[in-house]
Amino acid sequence: MSARSVEEHAAHISGLLTGLHTLSPSAVPTAEALGRITCSDIASPVDLPLFRNSQMDGYAVDAASVASVPTTLTVRGVIAAGSGKPPKHLPGSAFRIMTGAPLPEGADAVVPVEDTTGVTEHVVTIERGRSVGEFVRERGSDITAGMLLVTAGTHLEPRHIAALSAVGLASLDTYTKPRVAIITTGAELKSAGTTLEPGEIYDSNGPALATLAEANGADVVSVARSSDDPAEFRELLSYATSVADLVFTSGGVSMGDFEVVKETLIPLGAHFGHVAMQPGGPQGTAVVNEVPVLSFPGNPVSTMVSFEVFARGELRRAAGLPEIPRERLPLTAPLRSVDGKRQFLRARRTADGIELVAGPGSHLVAAMAWADVLIDVPAAVTELGAGDLVDVLPLSTSSI
Ligand code: AMP
Ligand code: MG
Repeated sequence: MSARSVEEHAAHISGLLTGLHTLSPSAVPTAEALGRITCSDIASPVDLPLFRNSQMDGYAVDAASVASVPTTLTVRGVIAAGSGKPPKHLPGSAFRIMTGAPLPEGADAVVPVEDTTGVTEHVVTIERGRSVGEFVRERGSDITAGMLLVTAGTHLEPRHIAALSAVGLASLDTYTKPRVAIITTGAELKSAGTTLEPGEIYDSNGPALATLAEANGADVVSVARSSDDPAEFRELLSYATSVADLVFTSGGVSMGDFEVVKETLIPLGAHFGHVAMQPGGPQGTAVVNEVPVLSFPGNPVSTMVSFEVFARGELRRAAGLPEIPRERLPLTAPLRSVDGKRQFLRARRTADGIELVAGPGSHLVAAMAWADVLIDVPAAVTELGAGDLVDVLPLSTSSI
């Protein structure tokens, strides 16, 4: 069977994942919406401030009565924040008023406490006059009803939650996080923190895929590990497809003797084949119980590169997250690449350009950890020189 190109396989996967892009929005309580993505513009239902109020602790006056100072005014009472309908102001008198308290009707300025002396319960001496509007927060001076507060596609941060709460919105519509389940396969796999028997290794694809999915907007609902026993894998797959919108598997897809993923999925109508890329050549796709299943090869770098190339963009779009822009940057040194395969090479940014880290082996997890980009070398390119511009895919997930 001839190999598919990366573009062909990516288009095939896009076709399988259309359902991820039509998930209905989730209403979430505003106070719990940190990190969610808004799926529509949100306008304020009210004016803010909701009523005219004082910006200072001080005395509500009319500016005309404090035009020449010092002057002593009668204090007619105290208005605290949270007090109900404000009293009427009488020219030539004052109310003691607290920050945020409603301004008496007819008062037009506030003299801060700092500008007064001779205070008793009944009189105050104003030492510094204030003009009309000073220290008065007018209704709607911050937000007017109907004003756009947050646009669609906003990654909600505490400052957005504050503004939405201030106008009284208790819940909002956000993108639904696609539910993702992960099944890693291999009789040799154990969890970190347990003791290994000879021949066993630690499962890194489970944690890698789970965190990649989560960092790119998914809700990871299940992470399981199967031996190479088809009955066990079938059972885990049946559970995964009952709780998720998308399932990732790792391992068991190449040409060995115990390819549990391939053996189980082919009778269910899966497609397995070679994609002209390195790493990540053997790839499988299936739809089980109406849920798409993407089967990546087991080598840790192959799994992670497969996710970057075929799944990251799809998940981000489904979750409402912005696309990660590719960049074009110069190489610091020449490199060679295999003819006929698109290569994704681990590399890092330096002040002088992009520098390869270690070799191309798909088991080299340290090189992947040290890399912050993948260099994307087209299938037909076999040699590149120092200074040549290359396409790079950023790997970091820290600024989604
Ligand atoms: P496979 O695709 O199952 O033949 O696995 C290819 C290589 O990747 C083997 O060396 C496996 O031991 C290794 N491998 C498979 N799955 C994992 C995993 N979850 N974590 C770490 N290494 C793995
Ligand atoms: Mg295996």
